[in-house]
Parts: sequence; structure tokens; C-alpha cells
Amino acid sequence: MRVKTPFYHYDMELLENTLQALNNAIPSPNFKVHYAIKANAEKRVLELIQKYGFGADCVSGNEVQTAIDTGFNPNEVVLAGVGKSDDELITAISNNIHSINCESIEELEVINEIAGNLNKTADISFRINPNVDAKTHAKITTGLSENKFGIPISEVGRAVEEINKMQHLHLKGIHFHIGSQILSMDPFVKLCKQVNTLLEDLEASGVELEHINVGGGLGIDYLNPEENPIPDFEGYFKTFHQHLKVRDGQTVHFELGRSVVGQCGSLISKVLYIKKGATKNFAIIDAGMTELIRPALYDSYHKIENITADSALGIDNYSVVGPICESSDVFGELEMPITKRGDYLCIKSAGAYGQVLSSNYNLRDKAATVYSDEMSLDECLDQQNAELA
Ligand SMILES: *Cc1c(COP(=O)(O)O)cnc(C)c1O
Repeated sequence: MRVKTPFYHYDMELLENTLQALNNAIPSPNFKVHYAIKANAEKRVLELIQKYGFGADCVSGNEVQTAIDTGFNPNEVVLAGVGKSDDELITAISNNIHSINCESIEELEVINEIAGNLNKTADISFRINPNVDAKTHAKITTGLSENKFGIPISEVGRAVEEINKMQHLHLKGIHFHIGSQILSMDPFVKLCKQVNTLLEDLEASGVELEHINVGGGLGIDYLNPEENPIPDFEGYFKTFHQHLKVRDGQTVHFELGRSVVGQCGSLISKVLYIKKGATKNFAIIDAGMTELIRPALYDSYHKIENITADSALGIDNYSVVGPICESSDVFGELEMPITKRGDYLCIKSAGAYGQVLSSNYNLRDKAATVYSDEMSLDECLDQQNAELA
């Protein structure tokens, strides 16, 4: 296999260790984990996660189809999304997925009609907006009443009345997702309290639920990926185990994305030019926001390392930038060993919301995918050097 920069390199051993840790941390057979496919949908990443027996969390019809094609059990696939199209709903209903997380009363009517046309009963959960502040970046907060997601708590009673009138829907549970990259357990504790209150209210009006889906959102350590390659799944599950008042027979579902795949992926890029600017040095690399848009979109920090520098030369400050014709195409400002054309940079913790968000803006080629058990990072670099020689 010949690889060309920029490319994504996936540490499959770390992914396995992460999946193992996740499995070991699950405190009760009532706790079910669905992997949020939108974080990373590379073929072998999905296959490995499926092999570990997790379910899938999808946000589009194509994700549902991909999950099923990969071998995920349709009965462990869930679908959320504030704007599901009719075609996407048909895909979900005809595959008998575990639950469609419904985000409005109008959507209930549409699903009821489509299910009727297909002669099916669709399993539904209400996606509820709990108005809990996830205390994360504004663009990845989803559980505040000002966000577009979910049914407001104040409308749940009316949603129950409506669904009771609908012949082709079965209300199975309630669903929440408050946001992403959440490192403090406080927002999750608040979520548990909201869920407990709502469950009591629903029970008082005669509604019994099979499951509670608390969504995803557990964060990763972008600052110290080497020290903390695997998130604290145990502490995360313990929070829900302690604070959520689960009834007998009820299952609790989790939809984890970033925490599963975030640390196993790196973006590898080559330095094209060093430009001495008026106030700083630019290291211009061959990867850009087309390969990893998180810094431009969310001001995200990714640790960057020059993996081929000669550290004897000393250090300097650099602004690491991509080649795209946008001033936001910046990966970060940092100190690195003296860096020159032809050096390789590793942009870390890029496994989640990295490659899936890539585009071919500026008509650029898509970055390649390299799995560590097919080619180690060292082998990739040796190959590059051999081609230069
Ligand atoms: C994105 C998303 C997730 C996954 O979030 P992470 O922060 O990656 O764990 C889970 N559920 C829903 C509904 C989502 O949209």
C-alpha cells in the first residue's frame, strides 16, 4: 500500500483497548451502549465496534443502512435527528429498528402515517429537551431550550395524548442528548434529576416506559492524549448508576461517539513551506480544514507534534496552517522544534468528528485511511522517505 499525505492513521490497538475498557465499565446488564456512527464511520472502525457487540446510534437514513450493512443488529439501532426525511423514516421503519427518537408532535404524525402505509407499528421514543446546560462549546450544546432539538418538557403531556390516538406508533421510551465533549459529571447529574422527575410525572399519568436513553457526550482529553488515551467510562456510568432511578425491567441506553473513537485517530500531514511572517512563523502543511474542520468550526484544540524534527536544532513558535483559501484554516499556535519543509506533523485526537466531516472544498482529494495493523506510522514514514531517496 502506498500512502500519500495527508492521511488519517488509526491506532487499532488503542481502539480495541478502548472498547475493552468500555465493556468492562458497564455496571449492569440493563445498560446498553450504542456507538454514535456520526463520530467516525470508517469501515474497519465500524466493523470492530460491531464485533464488540455494541448497538448503533444513527442520525440519518444512510447511517441506519450503513449500520445494518456492517452487521449491527437492527433491534439495537436507534435513529435521532431534528429533520428526518420521509425516505429516512421509511428506511428506519422497514428495518424494524429499536427506536426512532422523535423530536416533535408534527413528526409523530408523519411517522404514524408512513408506518401505516407500510403496515407496520413503529417503535418510538420522545427526544426531550431537558434544558440542561452541558457547559461545553456553544456549537455542540444541544439540550438547552434555545436549541432546535427535542420536545420541550412542557409539551410532553400533549405528545403523550397525541401518541395515544395514533394506531401505528408504540411509545417505548424517552431520549435525551445534552451535548458533546462534556468532562464534568455535573451536567449528567442534572440530567438524571430531570429524568427522574419526568419519569414520575409520566407514571402518574399512566405511562410506563421500557427504556431511558440518556444520549452521549462524554468528552476526551485533547490536552494530554498520551496520558489519558482512554476516557473514564467507569466514572461516567457510575454517575448514572447512582443518580438515575431506573424501574425494574427498564433498560438505560447510552449513545457514545467521541469517547469511543476520538483518541485512536491522528491526521498525518507534511510541511510544505515555512513562511516568516511579520509577527510569527507559519508552518504551512498539506492538510487543511478540508481534512479536519474542528479548529475552524469550534475553535478546537488538537495537540500537534513534529514527529520527524531534529530536536538538536532548537525550538521556535509556529502557527500551523493549512493550504485552503480561508483565514480560519489554522490548526493552532505552538512551540515546536525547528521545523522545515518535508517534516511530518501528527495532529492528535482526530478520530472523532475528523474524517467524517472532511470535504473536497477547493476540489481537493480526500485523505486516505491507514490502519495501524496494516501499516504502522513508522512504516508510513519510512515509505515516504524511501520515495524521496
Ligand atoms: C452526536 C450525538 C451523539 C454522540 O455524541 P458524542 O459527544 O460523540 O458522544 C449521541 N446522540 C445523539 C442524538 C447525537 O446527535
